[in-house]
Amino acid sequence: MTKTASSVWANCLLFIKDNIKPQAYKTWFEPIKPIKILGDVLTIQVPSKFFFEWLEEHYIKLLRVALVKEIGENAKLVYDVRMENTYSNKTPHTVKFPSSNKKPFNSQGVTIPLDIDKRELKNPFIIPGIQKVKIESQLNPNYNFENFIEGDSNRLARSASMAVSNKPGGTSFNPLLIYGGVGLGKTHLAQAIGVRIKERYPEKTVLYISAEKFTQQYIDSVKGNTRNDFIHFYQMIDVLIVDDVQFLSGKSGTQDVFFHIFNHLHQNGKQVILTSDKAPVDMQDIEQRLLSRFKWGLSAELMAPDFETRISILKSKMFRDGVEIPEEIVEYIAKNIKTNVRELEGVLISLIAQASFNRKEFTLPLIKQIVDKFVKNTKKEVSIDYIQKVVSKYFEMDVTTLQSKTRKRHIVQARQLAMFFAKRMTKASLASIGSQIGSRDHATVLHACKTVDNLTETDKQFRKYVDELTKKLTF
Ligand code: ADP
Ligand code: MG
Repeated sequence: MTKTASSVWANCLLFIKDNIKPQAYKTWFEPIKPIKILGDVLTIQVPSKFFFEWLEEHYIKLLRVALVKEIGENAKLVYDVRMENTYSNKTPHTVKFPSSNKKPFNSQGVTIPLDIDKRELKNPFIIPGIQKVKIESQLNPNYNFENFIEGDSNRLARSASMAVSNKPGGTSFNPLLIYGGVGLGKTHLAQAIGVRIKERYPEKTVLYISAEKFTQQYIDSVKGNTRNDFIHFYQMIDVLIVDDVQFLSGKSGTQDVFFHIFNHLHQNGKQVILTSDKAPVDMQDIEQRLLSRFKWGLSAELMAPDFETRISILKSKMFRDGVEIPEEIVEYIAKNIKTNVRELEGVLISLIAQASFNRKEFTLPLIKQIVDKFVKNTKKEVSIDYIQKVVSKYFEMDVTTLQSKTRKRHIVQARQLAMFFAKRMTKASLASIGSQIGSRDHATVLHACKTVDNLTETDKQFRKYVDELTKKLTF
């Protein structure tokens, strides 16, 4: 029996359906149309370029397994992308994209962009007497300067990053520390430096690594008795990018080894780039000598982008994905998603997905629904119970201790903080707060709030408690 594109694809779908969530299946696989099969090559039609990229990025492995099962080892996949302009009536034309996956789709000359397995760091320790082995830089080419939008919120960090990539090791920005909140572009910028250096100085060894992975490698090297090899490996790097160094907090062994690697690189004019979610002054449980190294170069903060920048970021992503969205909708998103570029992108992706696959238009009600979902997910409902739990846990006591009648200072403080946050974050009255936190009266709560206010002003350690608890309670 000869196989038709429909029968092959129908079988693939059966397999795929079994392996992913129904919603994902509906969104990403139902809209696909099988077009033809010629030898081992199956052609499928997808609604947009964005759709094609999404499949390649997220479902390529699954597709591969399904196709190999149906067509055999040499299966190849080609996408027919309908280049349709949402807002004009031009007749759609199609553009073919071979799947970028070489094995077994095997289209020439296309490299694998984001295959996680392939990007795993090669174990450097199996190479005896390490020479200049080829080190995979672990960079993601999508994080580059071209698509990093400039704004007031990132100007300093961005231009310092550009300076570093023009003259790695040759500026006073060494190390360059990029810090700022979640989703504000630290990883993007740090990677962009690496990508640019690789373009300009192909002979330089660049390595991007998360502090978490670095720590894991270090632990493994201790277990495997290859600590020296580990250190040597890192000392060979010309440009070392360590992401999220706050992760080293409290890990003194890893800090120690990093200190030595850092000194070696720095003395030899090599460039070090670090990112962190805090400024050096606010980093905790990082050894003083390492902190002082972090401060040697430049610390540049990434702040939340202002409205104009948020609009530009959205527009640039739309442009790259080839979609057009009415101005008022773009503005609505930018107005409502303020503190995190990753969320901004998330809303856009959901919107595009919903609009093109459920054949909905880009409308304001649709976008409101999506934005609401995002905003809700990030804002937790805070109850007085929840506050007491978080505060007790933070001070490592249980809730009954927090509520008890004791006058022990640290317990009193914890209780006062719980009252203070209850006042600040809920609509409950002083009396109701008092009765829920260890049956106190309203005057006690009022006194607690004042005390916390005063201590926050005068006592640095106390201020830190308030800041950290605020973060825990709001995220
Ligand atoms: P962080 O490491 O600070 O948590 P990321 O670098 O992962 O944040 O950024 C989150 C997302 O936002 C990424 O997809 C990144 O490309 C995007 N992004 C952040 N800042 C910008 C910017 N200025 N221009 C374009 N995209 C940005
Ligand atoms: Mg990051």
